[in-house]
Amino acid sequence: MINLLITIAFLLPNNQQTAQNKTIMKFELVKLPYAANALEPVISQITIELHHGKHLATYVNNLNNLVVGTEFENADLETIVKKSDGAVFNNAGQILNHNLYFTQFSPNGGGKPSGELLAAIEKTWGSFEAFQKEFETASTTLFGSGWAWLAADKDGNLHITKEQNAGNPLRNGYKPILGFDVWEHAYYVDYQNRRADHVKELWKIIDWKTVENRY
Ligand code: MN
Repeated sequence: MINLLITIAFLLPNNQQTAQNKTIMKFELVKLPYAANALEPVISQITIELHHGKHLATYVNNLNNLVVGTEFENADLETIVKKSDGAVFNNAGQILNHNLYFTQFSPNGGGKPSGELLAAIEKTWGSFEAFQKEFETASTTLFGSGWAWLAADKDGNLHITKEQNAGNPLRNGYKPILGFDVWEHAYYVDYQNRRADHVKELWKIIDWKTVENRY
């Protein structure tokens, strides 16, 4: 009986600790909605494996370590992106950016959007083709590492924004709809220095239904 009581007393703190650990939210690597080779030849399997399995996985791992014991432990990604800075922002921003990026592609993508999104694009740029041209210009003229975004303001008006490094239009109150990653890791294996060629090819794999649903 004494042995049993000692055993129970010994186990209790461990049980409590296990329950506590379970409440800590961990960020996870987003699952790709296609096979790693499905976007070839626009994006090669090796680029997907490095970009998703190494670069993004590292951001996820970093953020999980960085938020422990901070105000951002258990916060959702969008809150962290809006309110953090330094290394926490860099890693959280890159996770949010890549979650949007990797889930906006499909081997059956391409073409153009429809419905309200197409109407809003035509209202702002005159035509889908004119929008594409301006988006390509934003993507190719961004100096260094960063992102080009199609984003919507509170009234549903669309904007193209250029963001350095881990930047996301969420920081300016805009909702990100479509993002082109122009960090060299996104295209250098497949296109070397030809960023403009990579950007032009990306239109072929955009899953416009997914992008429309974000709008
Ligand atoms: Mn990237």
